[in-house]
Amino acid sequence: MAGIGPQDVDVAELYDAYTGAELQAISAYGLAAPERVGLQDFGAADRLAVNLSGGLLGQGSAPGATGIAWVVALARILTGLLAAIGANPALRAGRRPWRSRHRVDRDGDGTAAVTIPLSMTLRYNHPLGARSPYFEGLSGGRAIASRCAVCGCGWFPPRHCCGTGFHWEDLPGAGTVVAATDGFALVAMDGARNLALAKLREPAQAGVRVRIVQAAGPVEHPAQASLFQVETGNCIASE
Ligand SMILES: [Zn+2]
Repeated sequence: MAGIGPQDVDVAELYDAYTGAELQAISAYGLAAPERVGLQDFGAADRLAVNLSGGLLGQGSAPGATGIAWVVALARILTGLLAAIGANPALRAGRRPWRSRHRVDRDGDGTAAVTIPLSMTLRYNHPLGARSPYFEGLSGGRAIASRCAVCGCGWFPPRHCCGTGFHWEDLPGAGTVVAATDGFALVAMDGARNLALAKLREPAQAGVRVRIVQAAGPVEHPAQASLFQVETGNCIASE
C-alpha cells in the first residue's frame, strides 16, 4: 500500500510467536510474493534479513519483555549497519551493508544464513499494579486475600466479585489440598472461596493440610516467593 517492497527493506522483525506466523507476515507486508515466501529467497537479486534477533520463538516469547528485546536488537543491528556505512564510504552506495559487516554461513541444507553476534541484558520492570498487596504477601510467605465488601467472600488469589468495593485481609495461611500432581497442588485456603495453585515443598495428596511459607533463596518474581509445606502432625481430613 505504501509502495514499499523488499528492495526498500534491509532488515525486518516480524511477529513469529506461532509456526507459520512469520511467513504469513512476510506475505502480508508484501516483502515477498506469496508463492516465494517459503523459499527463503524473496527477491530476484537479494535475500531479506528477517528476525535476526531470533524472533519471539527464539527469545522464549515472554510477553512484553520480547517486545522490548526486539527494539534493543533492532537498535543494535541498525547501529551496526550505520557504523559499517560510516567506516566504509563505499558501502553508502550498497543496498545491503549488513552483508559486508556480518558473516554469511551455510545452514545444514546448504542455504545461506547470516550470523550476527548479539548479546543483551534486559532489566524488565514488571508493575504489580492493583494486585501489589497480594504479591507483597507472597514475598513474605503470607496469604493476603481480597475480601468483598458486598458479599463478604474472600478470594486468594484476589478477584473482584460483586463490585469494586473490597479490602485486603491476611488469611491464617493454612489450607487443604484439593488435588495434587508432581510438585503442584490446588489448595483451598482457609477463609478463601476459590482455589489457589500452589507449589509444594514436599509431596501431598488430596485432603492434606498445608501452610504457606516463604521460599528459600532469591527468586525472579514474587509469584515464586512462596510455597506450601505439609503441616506437621496432620492427617488426611475425613468427610
Ligand atoms: Zn462479592
